[in-house]
Amino acid sequence: MTKTFNINNIVRESVKALKPYSSARDEYVSDGSTMIFLDANENPFENGVNRYPDPYQRSLKALLAKQKDVSEENMLLGNGSDEVLDLIYRAFCEPNQDNVITLPPTYGMYKVLAGINAVENREVLLTIDFEADVPAILDKVDKQTKLIFICSPNNPTGNSFKRESVEKLLESFHGLVVIDEAYIDFSEQESWLKDLKKYPNLIVTQTLSKAYGLAGIRLGICYASEEIIAILNKIKPPYNVNQLTQQKALQRVLNEDAVQQEVVQILEERSNLEQALQNLDFVEKIYPSDANFILAKVDNADKRYQQLLEKQVVVRNRSTQPLCENTLRFTVGTPTENKALIAILKQL
Ligand code: PMP
Repeated sequence: MTKTFNINNIVRESVKALKPYSSARDEYVSDGSTMIFLDANENPFENGVNRYPDPYQRSLKALLAKQKDVSEENMLLGNGSDEVLDLIYRAFCEPNQDNVITLPPTYGMYKVLAGINAVENREVLLTIDFEADVPAILDKVDKQTKLIFICSPNNPTGNSFKRESVEKLLESFHGLVVIDEAYIDFSEQESWLKDLKKYPNLIVTQTLSKAYGLAGIRLGICYASEEIIAILNKIKPPYNVNQLTQQKALQRVLNEDAVQQEVVQILEERSNLEQALQNLDFVEKIYPSDANFILAKVDNADKRYQQLLEKQVVVRNRSTQPLCENTLRFTVGTPTENKALIAILKQL
């Protein structure tokens, strides 16, 4: 298959034709001087959040751009990466006509979003060592295939995919390759961000929900070419990232060292937990993790899940996922939580 990537070939017709909503804050951007704002039907009495937030989150993007060495025009922020993923479907997939490719076992939202957007989800199982089966993926591609979702490090398996496999897909596929890097800050592997210029069909998504410790504020990031970002900006809800989220994210991203210290601790704890799991009779296999969780195969996942629940510990039973029979996924907790978990596991 030879690739000819042209963004116009893959944007939805309705999106191409769309004239986006123009919000009050699109038409006049405050330069910080004392203006009288009578344009957006807000309540004028100051309480910290009575004004609409910046629809393009300029301060937060400027900071992220500096830290990640990516230009602001290559970035779109969303209400969690789940919103970003949904926007990607809506911008590029024609309902009841196009298809996407996902690689189970993987993050479940790609499939759910395909269902919501009436897009066919073509599943290509990972190999038994949880690698991407590139020939099988390319075999499933046809003219209507718009997106391939790659989660690396992958949830729930924990591994990162081989670079060569991802490169092959980026080079051979005529549509967009979406690399979900939700867990990249825990990974030994380098992010694909620095390859954005090389591959016009690459989208990288990241989130502040994992290493940054801000799952509660909902902030997801999409990095892609200026053309792709411009299309996503056209269809996003005008004020999709609220004021409080923008403020909180800014503070946390500024505090790079604190985030890094927590990541180091989580990685130490992951290694302790791996060792403890290895010593348990009912644990049959521990899959190598490049993320902040560990997938383990046990003798009877339903039974062990219930036993843990009775002891007030909630883990994720991933047994219904293909290739994951009798597996439990353990998120790495605080040192105290992990100690408690290990003590309980030893008693089972
Ligand atoms: N991608 C992956 C691989 C995830 O595991 C998750 C959440 N568990 C998400 C995306 C969603 O992240 P967010 O909180 O940014 O919506």
